[in-house]
Amino acid sequence: MRLITPFDPWRGKLCTCPEKYSFSPYTGCGHKCIYCYITSYIQNAFQPRVKTFTIAQLERELKKLDKNKPISIANSSDPYTPMEAKNMLMREVLPVFIKKGFKLLIVTKSNLVVRDADILSKGRVCVSITITTLEEKIAKRLEPNAPPPIMRLKALETLSKMGVPTAIRLDPIIPGVNDATASIRALLEAACKAGVKQVTTSTYKAKPDSLSRLVKTFPELDEYIRSLYSKGERIGRSTYLPRELRRELILKVREVAQELSMDFATCREGFPELHTAATCDSSHLL
Ligand code: SF4
Repeated sequence: MRLITPFDPWRGKLCTCPEKYSFSPYTGCGHKCIYCYITSYIQNAFQPRVKTFTIAQLERELKKLDKNKPISIANSSDPYTPMEAKNMLMREVLPVFIKKGFKLLIVTKSNLVVRDADILSKGRVCVSITITTLEEKIAKRLEPNAPPPIMRLKALETLSKMGVPTAIRLDPIIPGVNDATASIRALLEAACKAGVKQVTTSTYKAKPDSLSRLVKTFPELDEYIRSLYSKGERIGRSTYLPRELRRELILKVREVAQELSMDFATCREGFPELHTAATCDSSHLL
């Protein structure tokens, strides 16, 4: 089985990503975010396992790939899942990609990425860190095993100062949980101050298992959230919020991003006309 594959989010018609590759050193993720969609197609998704591969195998695959297309690490797991602190796989694989001249898009929810700043700063690399809110108590309920948002913010600041382009993913926005304008503003202002160039956002796309985790974690919002999604639209294998509400939520983020002169994009929402960033995945920052 190939380790590096063309990125293809289920041939999603709303995906605006430029062509790129996808690589993940892990199957599954230990951050256990309640809204995570990987539980719908990966068995024991919250019990991450190291993929079996060798550096020689990785090098063989790289020989056949187009260096103009970036490699995204990772999409169906987090490369800095908690067990990476001990495993240090990223410290082994990053130099291989960088030495061969590949551009990298690192997507994570962990400040552990800073451990590898010495390597990242030597390559053409952009680091996107997901932060859904700066409110610690809400973040703990949403992302129980991920580092606190303030540490993620600090990681963005450190990387930005070292010249590594950074972006935040305010992803997903969940009505009643993290959609207050004041909370969005506080997050974007802090990110901007940390040197972050871009924000990419999206709304929560419901799947039966993640929805049941969500309402179990926020029982006070059960009725409200279910009623919103019952009026939503089915796109691909997910249920989206009604289009008008999605647009309203996304415009809230866009307005603040524009005030702060940050690049803005959405992820699989169907509003590409609202993007001010050249790419939704920040590959233009590479
Ligand atoms: S960090 Fe990403 S892959 Fe990991 S549990 Fe959270 S949403 Fe899922």
